[in-house]
Amino acid sequence: MSSANSRPGSLSAAEVFDQYCAYVNPGLAALVKFMGFDAVEESARGAIIRDADGNEYIDCLGGFGALSLGHHHPKVVAAVRHQLDRMPLSSKILLNPCQASLCQRLAAITPGDLQYSFICNSGAEAVEGALKLARLATGRTEIIGAIGGFHGKTFGALSASGRDIYRKPFEPLVPGFSHVPFGDTTAMRRAVTRDTAAVILEPIQGEAGVIIPPDDYLPEVREICDSAGALLILDEVQTGLGRTGALFACQHYGVAPDIMTLAKALGGGVIPVGAFVARPRLWEAFRHNPLLHSSTFGGNPLACAAALAAIDAVIEERLPERARDLGGRALRSLTQLQQRFPAAISDVRGRGLLIGVEFAHEDIAGLVIAGLAQRRIITAYTLNNPRVIRLEPPLVIEAEILDRVLSALGEAVQRTVGLLQDVPPAK
Ligand code: PLP
Repeated sequence: MSSANSRPGSLSAAEVFDQYCAYVNPGLAALVKFMGFDAVEESARGAIIRDADGNEYIDCLGGFGALSLGHHHPKVVAAVRHQLDRMPLSSKILLNPCQASLCQRLAAITPGDLQYSFICNSGAEAVEGALKLARLATGRTEIIGAIGGFHGKTFGALSASGRDIYRKPFEPLVPGFSHVPFGDTTAMRRAVTRDTAAVILEPIQGEAGVIIPPDDYLPEVREICDSAGALLILDEVQTGLGRTGALFACQHYGVAPDIMTLAKALGGGVIPVGAFVARPRLWEAFRHNPLLHSSTFGGNPLACAAALAAIDAVIEERLPERARDLGGRALRSLTQLQQRFPAAISDVRGRGLLIGVEFAHEDIAGLVIAGLAQRRIITAYTLNNPRVIRLEPPLVIEAEILDRVLSALGEAVQRTVGLLQDVPPAK
């Protein structure tokens, strides 16, 4: 390989595209081009990304929720730089003070008596650990998830997830998993038995299309689990750390889980990090063999330094409150947009800055995403429901930038509706 090719910053957009086609995935390259996102990202601050030609984009996807603090948050970057100069990776045998401090901090900020944490590297890995702990601590095998739920794409996380398109090609998945409709306590009551190790849910479903359950749903699921001796795992990988207007989405409902999973925003938009946090009585199961579950890179000092700084920033900058205020303003504006285009937009919903705009057809959503791309605004559909465009900007986004997104969305919807009216009906 030539030295020029190993310096990513020196490649043209066409060269990067060719490398995607030849070495990453030609299907992904085609998809990105189709949506109008085939520019080369170069640098980013806050909610703004700059491409190699100096064009600016508003990031309204926020790395699928990983960028709650925006790009390159100064406090997180400084903490990571500091740790980089001291010791980036752990010996894995001497005591790691960064990991210990992060676990202590997670115990302090999570609800209920959640106390012990295992630090890992991604959301799916956090879910894998939570599922394993549930089986280990209860001695039971059955896990119940929700239809449309999304927990990641490793085997266990995929088995817990509820959309066939991602599951079918990899079957048989892990045995013992079943799914019930989200928000339906009657179905949940029927499904949970004395063989149930755990119920795993997102408090607000993200990839299913931003689905908010009825207010009494999670409290009732908590009660169903308790009466059957089953554990409740709440997956806050996407909703955690302020995204929905509370530090954790389960706090909207006054429910504390037995195990909580976190990732995405936990890394402060700088270093990948995940965690599962559990009640002390469950952790007894790990006491006898503390190496039963482990990870070489999990708990590495760089990631823990990023997470500690990220938690501080979320709290100091009052980002849950900010998400609530900006989200409320966005929802009001989107509701007006829906009233203007009721045939194209079937629903708008959200909590904090996790907002879904549901279109009557996935092609309309696709055209609107492309229309936003032309206006240099980055959005995407939700993975388990392509009719829903998610607005998930950094929580630090300036109000006037969010207003620009909302008016561009209005223009893109108007243009799409106009285009569709011009299409002659099929013969
Ligand atoms: N859980 C939830 C709720 C998610 O939204 C996601 C990813 O979108 C995951 C788990 C998986 O996280 P990761 O992509 O880091 O493996």
